[in-house]
Amino acid sequence: MSYDYLALYVDGEWRRPGRGTVAAISPADGERNGSTPLASESDVDAAVAAARRAFGTPSWTGLPVEERAELLERFAIQLEKNVPERATATSVQNGTPISIALPSEGGAPIGLLRYHAGLARRTVVEDRRERFDGMGETIVRREPVGVVAVVVPWNFPQPITMFTVAPALAAGCTVVLKPAPETVFGALELAAAADRAGLPPGVLNVVTGGAEIGEHLVSHPGVDRVAFTGSTAAGRKVGEICGRLLRPVTLELGGKSAAIVLDDADLVATTQGLASCALLNSGQACYLSTRILAPRSRYDEVVDAVAGLAKALKIGDPLDRTTQIGPMVSSRHRERVESYVRLGQRSGARLVAGGVPAEQERGWYVRPTVFADVDNSDPIAREEIFGPVLAVIPYRDVDEAVAIANDSEYGLGGTIWTSDVDEGIAVARRVRSGSVGVNYYDLDLGAPFGGVKASGLGRELGPEGFDTFFHYKSIYLHKAT
Ligand code: NAD
Repeated sequence: MSYDYLALYVDGEWRRPGRGTVAAISPADGERNGSTPLASESDVDAAVAAARRAFGTPSWTGLPVEERAELLERFAIQLEKNVPERATATSVQNGTPISIALPSEGGAPIGLLRYHAGLARRTVVEDRRERFDGMGETIVRREPVGVVAVVVPWNFPQPITMFTVAPALAAGCTVVLKPAPETVFGALELAAAADRAGLPPGVLNVVTGGAEIGEHLVSHPGVDRVAFTGSTAAGRKVGEICGRLLRPVTLELGGKSAAIVLDDADLVATTQGLASCALLNSGQACYLSTRILAPRSRYDEVVDAVAGLAKALKIGDPLDRTTQIGPMVSSRHRERVESYVRLGQRSGARLVAGGVPAEQERGWYVRPTVFADVDNSDPIAREEIFGPVLAVIPYRDVDEAVAIANDSEYGLGGTIWTSDVDEGIAVARRVRSGSVGVNYYDLDLGAPFGGVKASGLGRELGPEGFDTFFHYKSIYLHKAT
């Protein structure tokens, strides 16, 4: 089947892309499986201009919150109508196994729109309070920040897009979205659903392209706020641009999180949990616990369990519902992941599962790979690999485990595995990271998500994430004398 997406979505219309179209390549077999449009800088200019025109209008920003929330719910209903098609649209581009794509690409954007419609209804937009000095009153208003540029990566593209598009729209902002060049189909499906739902022209626009188009968008004079998700390297560049322009920005970046396996952990449950907490989406997720910290007292047991997990996972066609590990997103990315496997082999770490096969198979597959006896200073323990490669690192006691977990440039996720949940919570409190799971890990739409250190700036999701799409304004009223 050929997936041919030929147009951008700008100002409520399908627009012919300034730079034509480019072939899409299936990660499962390396063959062409469709086309995607390529935007020019003038397409981006047109999208930003449309978003600017739509911002502040009575038909969007000026709508009573109830009516805007209803439009978001209509958007959700449209998304509900093609869950399998949208999940497939992502899987055929980035190789996410369909069993994962159905709930994440298909289902999650719907929940995100509904959650933010509800949050908008509950949020007080304006309150009137007495002055601190008793000399009058102040009206405190939340005002939407304006035109939001949303730049997202190729892993979990539809939910990640909605992490910021849903709250931005709920707040009354307008959006220009730039998906990663690897996953354009799903973004255009989101635009089509918004169009069918009747969102006014210019409220949501989608332009495509790589880093240059992304930079043109985030530095555009018509943009008021930037929401960037991607690698730490690109995030630093976007952060520099926004710093120079004094433009509010959230940066959701890379990670190298730790799973701390405590000495009382049930290893069967831990291994089952690590299948998703360490290897979800073939290791291509930002918050994964890819450093497995194992107590010396049970080190061999943990190594065997993790190696056994890696060997048991079913590798195959992403569209096969029984596949657990799909291909990497691109041949370039597979080469990058494999270069880390070779680096691990040279570092003196012990390869206990996986490795680079002598002959490459069709498609961009990497076998789940586990290294034991890894030192936390080794590059495979320090750098984000973004593939199915795990490092098992021994520790002496809990203090050392926490020290190793925190000895990282990153601080995004992490997990604690234990039979004693209270002890798990106590250890979780000591991990320097934006989120930690005890005996599991799953994002909560109602709670803030984001990173510390090189994992990013700011938070998405929950009321805290929603708040970042508003400016506060205070109107002072002096007491009549
Ligand atoms: P990437 O940084 O290469 O690209 C991300 C997006 O930014 C793409 O749309 C890309 O075209 C664009 N881009 C790249 N350089 C840019 C620049 N200089 N200016 C503006 N836009 C630019 O990342 P990727 O390979 O697509 O995604 C994988 C990375 O994303 C990993 O590091 C992963 O950890 C991270 N990620 C983080 C989160 C999170 O929530 N913290 C979630 C998912 C992925």
